[in-house]
Amino acid sequence: MKRLITAAILPIAFFCSCQSARTQNQSQASAPQPQVVVVPTDELSREPSVGPATNAGATAAAQATPAQELRGDSSDMQMSLPPPATQTASAGPRISYNSCNVNGPYIAMTFDDGPNPELTPKLLDMLKARGIKATFFVVGQNAAQYPEILKRMVAEGHEIGNHSWSHPALTKLGVDGVKKQIESTNAAIEQATGQKVTVMRPPYGATSQILNRRYYDQYGMKVILWSVDPLDWKYRNSARVSAQIIQSAHPGAIILAHDIHATTVGAMPETFDALLAKGYKFVTVSELIAMDQPAQLVKREEPKPQSAPAAPAQGAR
Ligand SMILES: [Zn+2]
Repeated sequence: MKRLITAAILPIAFFCSCQSARTQNQSQASAPQPQVVVVPTDELSREPSVGPATNAGATAAAQATPAQELRGDSSDMQMSLPPPATQTASAGPRISYNSCNVNGPYIAMTFDDGPNPELTPKLLDMLKARGIKATFFVVGQNAAQYPEILKRMVAEGHEIGNHSWSHPALTKLGVDGVKKQIESTNAAIEQATGQKVTVMRPPYGATSQILNRRYYDQYGMKVILWSVDPLDWKYRNSARVSAQIIQSAHPGAIILAHDIHATTVGAMPETFDALLAKGYKFVTVSELIAMDQPAQLVKREEPKPQSAPAAPAQGAR
């Protein structure tokens, strides 16, 4: 019983910080994205849940599971201050991204924490039916368990990134711990797909300038955060997830979602169709960052609807 009460209270406790993060994100939708990465300490003290839920009994535990990724603005939660993208760009190649400056209605849809043996193939079917490319930040221990799903991702044109082996906050680990998390995951991905991994997303978005530099210098991986977060781990409601993504999408957006939640995968048909109708074009993260350019060279244009309904003929009823 006590566990149930805790499960009910915890999401409420997170509500305040998450809501303030949401407001902050929305208010900055058209401004350069901050690279402040913070993690509620409560989240880090609990066991991450990265394995696929295999039965209905896992649902209650999953509901009480902490965020997979969180950003907040409470000062006592602040863990690290990666440099603004402009500073990094002026000092050399840009190595971390919340979003990109692109000419055109390009967006990158990203899915974290899988693969999940039931949900990820369903999502791949949805993507295939629409000719949409996405990026999957897989957890190494799941990737090692389901290499055939990774093979399918690559065969169908999707990108695979490193999301650590077991989903810890990498900022809490020593050099050797980070090395194991990164290298074992890259090995699992490369063994399944034969492809080198060039992008990574730190669990919870927890990173630092030093870690970002290490990921790039030692492994050739750029750090990919996000600019659109529907909080799908928290709101297990497909309509809400879909509406949040559709409302917040913008050219150059990197959109965060998780393919381990049925409600998220269930939200995708409507989400994809609405974004396509708005004129957005889906690319992988590496394709998006290849289009990135200095902000002053980018024309801020909203996408043009691609499938607007035909105007009725004069006099038609
Ligand atoms: Zn995650």
